[in-house]
Amino acid sequence: MTRPVLALDFDGVLCDGLNEYFTVSAQVYRELCPDIGCTSNLEPFREWFYRLRPVITHGWEMPLLLHGLVAGEDMHEMESAWAQVQRRLLAATGWTAQGLGQRVDGMRDAWIARDEREWLSLHEFYGGVVAQVQGWLTATPFQPVIVTTKQERFVQALWSGVGVTWPEQWLYGKTFAQPKTQILQKLHQQYGVIGFVEDRWEALTAVQQVPALQNIPLFLATWGYNTPAQAQAALQLGVQPLTLGEFCDPQYPWCRGTD
Ligand SMILES: [Mg+2]
Repeated sequence: MTRPVLALDFDGVLCDGLNEYFTVSAQVYRELCPDIGCTSNLEPFREWFYRLRPVITHGWEMPLLLHGLVAGEDMHEMESAWAQVQRRLLAATGWTAQGLGQRVDGMRDAWIARDEREWLSLHEFYGGVVAQVQGWLTATPFQPVIVTTKQERFVQALWSGVGVTWPEQWLYGKTFAQPKTQILQKLHQQYGVIGFVEDRWEALTAVQQVPALQNIPLFLATWGYNTPAQAQAALQLGVQPLTLGEFCDPQYPWCRGTD
């Protein structure tokens, strides 16, 4: 018997990676320091980095965001026009998306190889998520499925760190090299998708633009990497803003309207 699926993003929905993002970015930034002139203490930029994290789409942008903060770029411009600031910073530093991406991935890989426990300790599942997921994996009328751009082995390492065994076949990560919309279409065709919970505004609006996905209920994880303005705008666009309390409520009616 096939159950319908509830599609879940990982970062910013299940797992809070802000500490890891900042720490890895700071280390990559220090590596790059000889190119741009070093500053000593990056810690004062942590809060601003957390606050501006919603503007970032790809991992390579993180050290660049940190550089923008250190270099004294205008916060409001970074928040409202990150693409422009990003181009300007790349031009000024001579860094490339590919080069930064390799450094970020390399830094992460080296850290995991050196001390995986320490690396894992930089992540935290949002409060209530682990218990909810364990309940879902035991018995639900639907199948939870993770659809993420994160590498599968990182996701699995984080789950095993909290004693959760996530079924491999229900994890669609980076190695699929497919847009989330494509993965959702396949899942929808095969099983039916009763909901997609995602914290990224852009990812949700991308789903809305695919005719075959029009009837999938979309949920914005307001505790993740998005802004209060996006959460406010969600309802008008037919996206349900969800609180962490609702998400972790075992009685939340995900299957409303289905058998
Ligand atoms: Mg996310």
